[in-house]
Amino acid sequence: QKAEWAKLKDAQSVTADGKKVTIGANIGTPKDVQGAVDNGAEAIGLFRSEFLYMDSSELPSEDDQFKAYKAVTEGMKGKQVVVRTMDIGGDKKLPYLPLPKEMNPFLGYRAIRISLSHQDIFRTQLRALLRASAYGKIAIMFPMIATVQEFQEAKAILEDEKDKLIKAGTKVDENIEVGMMMEIPAAAVLADKLAKYADFFSIGTNDLIQYSMAADRGNDAVSYLYQPDNPSIVRLVKNIINSAHKEGKWVGMCGEAAADPNLVPILVGLGLDEYSMSATSILPVRSEIKTLDSKKMADLANKVVTESETSDQTIQMVKDATK
Ligand code: PEP
Ligand code: MG
Repeated sequence: QKAEWAKLKDAQSVTADGKKVTIGANIGTPKDVQGAVDNGAEAIGLFRSEFLYMDSSELPSEDDQFKAYKAVTEGMKGKQVVVRTMDIGGDKKLPYLPLPKEMNPFLGYRAIRISLSHQDIFRTQLRALLRASAYGKIAIMFPMIATVQEFQEAKAILEDEKDKLIKAGTKVDENIEVGMMMEIPAAAVLADKLAKYADFFSIGTNDLIQYSMAADRGNDAVSYLYQPDNPSIVRLVKNIINSAHKEGKWVGMCGEAAADPNLVPILVGLGLDEYSMSATSILPVRSEIKTLDSKKMADLANKVVTESETSDQTIQMVKDATK
């Protein structure tokens, strides 16, 4: 099997009936780029930029960040790199940014919520990203967007920094794509409205499942409720994809579910454009997608959305449609 996968390293990601998708890698530091390239990544679908902050004993400077983003985009040789702005909070802490202790950190002060209220930190990161965008194809996305206002506010700050850089004569990609993570159920339900403003969505199933099922993603006592195949999750994912496509926008998925062999057939059926995952999953998923007929998978996805009542039923439907 390994030998068969290796042959797919430089191949495109296409379904059995010739529908092209993109498989990218999730990375945390510039050091991860080599692994992504070695495993045939067609993009970086998620650069978790918070690791730059966590690996440092003080706030990383604009220049330090610029160098890191530039290294990643150059390492990917013009392929798209989606950088997520700082997702601190929840379970991720910074020693030099003391945050109040909270009863429910995952429902608290984290990610874009911190960025919007610490604009100095946010603007520094955006300037570094914009400067690096002159060296490749960078896209920016905001984590934990819950409302239209949050997205608009974050985007306005980005536009402001972009205008200032352009006026100062700094080279930036003036058409840089600006998207958002889809990982809060309220946003998933309101995807048709958000799709008017965002250039793309990236579905963060790790959080989307935890918030939808109200089951902490790291708590063994409730892990039985953490169900990627629950039809409720599939319905949310369908709504996100259809809403984006109606506005002519693309949709990726960067949570673990994007590499889940039980879910990939459904995602193909729903028309997901980009799959992003840990580098070692890329070739197995490319190999699975090659065996799937997109029209048959569309029928499967439709069946799951209309008929499945449970996670087990979804899994059985996938088995029946792919045997
Ligand atoms: C997610 O929530 O699915 C995701 C990709 O982000 P993280 O795992 O970093 O929260
Ligand atoms: Mg998340």
